Amino acid sequence: MYMYDLIIIGSGPAGLTAGIYSTRANLKTLILAGGKWGGQLMLTSVVENYPGFPQGIEGPELMLNMRKQAEKFGAEVKEEDFISADFSVKPFSIVSSSNSYLAKSVILASGADTLWLGVPGEKEKIGKGVSSCATCDAAFFRNKNVIVVGGGDSAMEEALFLTKFADKVTLIHRREQFRASEIMQKRVKENSKITLLLNTQIKEILGDEKVSGVTLINSKTNEISNLQTDGVFVAIGHVPNTKSFKGIELDDKGFIKVKDHFKTNVEGVFVAGDVHDNEYKQAITAAGFGCAAALEVERYLQNTK
Ligand code: NAP
Repeated sequence: MYMYDLIIIGSGPAGLTAGIYSTRANLKTLILAGGKWGGQLMLTSVVENYPGFPQGIEGPELMLNMRKQAEKFGAEVKEEDFISADFSVKPFSIVSSSNSYLAKSVILASGADTLWLGVPGEKEKIGKGVSSCATCDAAFFRNKNVIVVGGGDSAMEEALFLTKFADKVTLIHRREQFRASEIMQKRVKENSKITLLLNTQIKEILGDEKVSGVTLINSKTNEISNLQTDGVFVAIGHVPNTKSFKGIELDDKGFIKVKDHFKTNVEGVFVAGDVHDNEYKQAITAAGFGCAAALEVERYLQNTK
């Protein structure tokens, strides 16, 4: 089996940026990209908040550029799915959907997936009115009516951010009480552009090409109604892709626990991006974490020579 200095698991902004830095530091690097490489940005339309692109850039194009940049410096990007790893013995052994590899160090950058509602009309309208990122997409809803779904801090934050652009924001939550912090709830309740719709769930997202409305059900009365809207922002949480990482410590929500300097509980295994970050969740922060993790790997390998 070929021995790599570094195997990066994941090919979103964190994994590919880590690959750019590690290969430029002359580390023999394999990026296990997954059958569906590129992460969440492959499902995004225009990205307007990634520095360096004043006109914006399509999510898939941004990811292709990052991949080309990593490959240019010698990173091997293989579109194989991660299956398992043995982190108990060094070098670490990694099994993918079609091969086995050895690595002196590993960066876990497998990302997180948005938790979607799973209702009819949602999946096919992602990027056409359905979004999970107000920071990314709010500007497309200037002077429009939008809905935010969720009752946590993310939903409050999304709703408040959207008021900078949209005329009206309806915050829909399935229960009577929010789980968001008091201060965020207070800001939402005091904002005249935000209307609350409690004990309510979306049954279907309507519209042909773009979102035009939603069908709602009141969870107390079972009453069904329709509401016109131009956009639906889903903010009901994220699921980190950590299921297959045996021996790696996770927090109570399943995100990887980070020790100082992007280390996990296993020496030689580092972490970067949304798989540990449940707070910022931006492409640029993930890329920054990827850079930092690769610099830490370089130091680690120098010290263990
Ligand atoms: P969260 O706290 O887990 O809240 C998720 C919300 O979505 C809950 O209100 C939940 O309803 C609702 N929900 C879950 N599944 C649903 C479904 N299928 N249909 C409808 N609603 C559903 O997640 P989060 O808001 O993303 O926050 C994650 C973490 O980041 C939290 O610790 C949060 O405090 C933190 N955060 C902090 C800030 C900040 O401080 N500025 C900003 C963002 C996030 P129930 O309440 O009924 O379960």
